[in-house]
Amino acid sequence: MSFLALMVLMVYESRWVYPEIQAYFSQTGNLTGQQLSTRARVFLQDAQAELLGDQAEQDALDAALLDIELAYGLADMHIYRREYACAESSLADLDRLGVQLAARNIDRFAAVSMLFAPIQCLTHIEMDQLDRRGAAINDFSESTRQHSQVLTYSSLLIFVMGLVFWWLHERQLRRADRATQETFEWMQRAMRDPLTGIGNRSALHQDVLAKQHQTLGLILVDIDFFKQYNDACGHPQGDTLLRQLATLIGETLEEAKLYRLGGDEFAALLDCPDVATLKRYCHQLMEGLREADFPHPAHPDKKGVTLSVGGSCFVADEATFPYAYEAADKALYQVKTMGRDGWQVTEDA
Ligand code: GH3
Ligand code: MG
Repeated sequence: MSFLALMVLMVYESRWVYPEIQAYFSQTGNLTGQQLSTRARVFLQDAQAELLGDQAEQDALDAALLDIELAYGLADMHIYRREYACAESSLADLDRLGVQLAARNIDRFAAVSMLFAPIQCLTHIEMDQLDRRGAAINDFSESTRQHSQVLTYSSLLIFVMGLVFWWLHERQLRRADRATQETFEWMQRAMRDPLTGIGNRSALHQDVLAKQHQTLGLILVDIDFFKQYNDACGHPQGDTLLRQLATLIGETLEEAKLYRLGGDEFAALLDCPDVATLKRYCHQLMEGLREADFPHPAHPDKKGVTLSVGGSCFVADEATFPYAYEAADKALYQVKTMGRDGWQVTEDA
């Protein structure tokens, strides 16, 4: 059953209560019917008491006649005649008795006995009206119970459905959060060099684009004779050196963001207002390396680990970056050709 259908049912059930209460109070017709027959019966019994009393014959007959006429007036109802077989004959008896009393041609005892049948009939009507009223009340309370049961179960169902919807919604939210988190982690991983933990070439591109229109310095770093280092110390030791150098460059150029571009080539990106600042950074890096004094057992010049560094300054843009990269690479290549272990900066990238 759809949610809407349930709501419609509830509204219908709530609306039901009002007409049903009205129906209950409309039972007043039956109540009046019972009250009229009761009063008529009492008048007839009063008439009997007066006929059997000790007042003068004349007065007793007059008083009884009055009571009988009053009872007749109350009992002469269309509904009684229609619904109760005894009503017609009882009213006819009372009519006849009234005429006889008025003409004084009936004695008191005969009159008393003529009243028994109408009294019995009115008692029957009275009891039947009471029964009908009881049945109406029972019907009403039974249907009230049923309708309130429907209302209770519908409310419970709505509550449970609410809980289920809430739970589904929460689950969906958690799934979406997890998916977003996973996507974010994958994106982070895709931007990292797994060996050193610093950014990779894609991260460098992204960071350059994020710093559009700022003057930046790009420093490229390549290890000299790294192949020989690997050959002499083994690849795992070569990996360790790559990690150590990543740390060293990061500590020496604190302001820089670092990247491993592949193999033994690193890049550093930093804010750089002019070429002089870039030169200072390159010098700083070479000093740091010299202080670290990493051994290189296979260096042809019998030195420790040395680096070749090339740099360029540029205004960050998607279009300018390839030129800046090329300029820094050229500068690095020149260092290599001039014997390595040094730095050079291109003045006009
Ligand atoms: P050059 O002075 O001309 O740079 O000489 P080089 O020996 O360093 O030559 P090049 O830069 O061309 O060689 C890079 C070497 O780096 C080749 C490869 O054995 C090594 N290498 C590349 N990636 C890794 C890596 O992830 N781990 C290790 N241990 N070695 C690597
Ligand atoms: Mg190299």
